[in-house]
Amino acid sequence: MFDWINASLNRKIGSVLAVSLSFLLIVIGYSIYQVRVINSELKEVSEIDLPLTEVITQVEMLQLKQHLSMERFRLLMGTNNAEQNPIKSFSDRHQAITHLLNRATQLISSNLNNNNIQFKPAEYQLILDEINDFTKSNQNFELQLESLLKRGLLSEKAWEELEVSASNLDSNIVTILKQINQLTLEATRYTENHQRQFMVIETALGICAFLLSSLLAFYVLHVIRTRIHSIHQQVELLHTSLEQGVPITRPDNNSVQPSDELGELELDLKKMISRLSDEMDTRKEVEEQLIVLATKDKLTNVYNRHKWSEQIQLLIDLSNQNKTFSLISLDIDHFKNVNDSYGHQIGDKVLQALANLLQKDLNKPDMVFRMGGEEFTILLTQQGLEEASNIAERFRHDIEHYQSENLPQFTASMGVTQYHLGETEDSLMTRADAALYQSKENGRNRVTTVA
Ligand code: GH3
Ligand code: MG
Ligand code: MG
Repeated sequence: MFDWINASLNRKIGSVLAVSLSFLLIVIGYSIYQVRVINSELKEVSEIDLPLTEVITQVEMLQLKQHLSMERFRLLMGTNNAEQNPIKSFSDRHQAITHLLNRATQLISSNLNNNNIQFKPAEYQLILDEINDFTKSNQNFELQLESLLKRGLLSEKAWEELEVSASNLDSNIVTILKQINQLTLEATRYTENHQRQFMVIETALGICAFLLSSLLAFYVLHVIRTRIHSIHQQVELLHTSLEQGVPITRPDNNSVQPSDELGELELDLKKMISRLSDEMDTRKEVEEQLIVLATKDKLTNVYNRHKWSEQIQLLIDLSNQNKTFSLISLDIDHFKNVNDSYGHQIGDKVLQALANLLQKDLNKPDMVFRMGGEEFTILLTQQGLEEASNIAERFRHDIEHYQSENLPQFTASMGVTQYHLGETEDSLMTRADAALYQSKENGRNRVTTVA
C-alpha cells in the first residue's frame, strides 16, 4: 500500500498532489451536485408550490364572494333592491373559478408528467384528484344555483340544500389549500435541512481534504528529513574519522537498490566512503612498507644503519646512572675468502644465516643492525658489560659450530663494550671497533671486552 513512499521524490510529491487534487475534485463534484439538487428543490417550491398557493387562494376568495352574493340575494329577494342581474355576476365568478382551477390542474399535471415534482409526487397526485373532484362539485353547485335563480322564488328547503353544498365546497377548497400549504412548508423545511446538511458535509469534507493533504505532505517531509539526516550523519562520521585519523568504518553497500534520488545519493556516498576506506588501508600498508624499507636491511632483514643512528641516539638520551646499555661489534672472519671460494650468492646466504642466528638468540628489546658489508652491531639495551660479554661469547660459539648443508663453515670476531654516561656515539663506537680490531689481531674467532 505504501509502495509509493519508496518511489522517486517526483513521484512521492506527485502522489501527494494527485491524492489532494482527487479529494478536492470529489468535494467540488459533490458540491456541484448538491447545489443543483438544492436549486431544483427551490425551483420546485417557487415554480409549483407558490403559484399553486396563489391560485387556490384566489379560488377561495372567489368562492367566498360567490357565497356572500348568494346570501345577499337571499336577503334582498322580494324587495325592490334585489340585484338586477345576479346570474351574470355568478356566471362571471364561476368562469373565473373554473379558469383558476384549470390553471391549478394544468400546473400540477404538467409538472407531474415532466417529472419536475421530486418532493412527494404522490401527494400532488392526491391534490390533483381533489381539485378535479372540487371542480365537478363546483360545476354542479353553479348549475344548481343558476337553475334556482332563474326560477325566481325559492323554497326554504332548496336554500338550505344550496347552503350545505356551498359550505361543503368552502371546506373542500380550504382543505386543498391547507394541504398545499402543508406541502410547501414541508418542501421548504426539507430544502432548508438539505442546505444545512450540505453545509456540514461540505465543511467536513473540506477539513478532511485539508487534513489528509497536510498529513501526507508532513509524512513525505518527515521521510525526506530522516533520510537527509542519515546521510548527514554519515558525512559527519566520515569528517570526524578523517580529522582524528581513526579508521573509516566500511558502510554496508549491499542493501536494496535505491528507490529514489536520496537513495542514490546515499549509495553514492557509501561507495565513496568504501573507496576512501580502501584508499586509507592501502596508504597504511604503503606507509608500513616504507617504514620497513627505511629501517630494515633488504638482504638480511635486520635493522639498517639509518635505524641504528636513530636508535643509538634514543638510548643515549634515555641513559642515566641507573640505566645503561652495551653493544657488540661483529665482523665475519675472512669473508672475502667465502665470496672468492663459493661465490657471491653463497656469501649472501652466509650473511642471512648469521643474521637469523643472531636474531634468534636475542630478547625482544635488543636489536641487530647491519652496519655495512659483513659488519654487524648488536645493541643490548639493558645488559651490563659482563652479561654482554657472555652473550657475545655464546654468539661466537654458536657461529663457529653453525652447520648447514649448502653453506661453508665460518667464524666471527667481536668487540664488546659498555656505554659510559655522557660520552658520544663516536667515542663509544671507536672503543667497540678497537675491541673488535683487537680480536682480529689476536687471531680472529674471539671476543674482546673493553670496559
Ligand atoms: P677480515 O677477517 O679481516 O675481516 O677479512 P675479510 O675478508 O672479512 O675482510 P674484507 O673487508 O677484506 O672483506 C670483506 C668482504 O665482504 C669484501 C666484500 O666483497 C664482501 N662483501 C661486502 N658486502 C657483501 C655482500 O653484501 N655480499 C657478499 N656476498 N659479500 C659482501
Ligand atoms: Mg669487514
Ligand atoms: Mg671481515
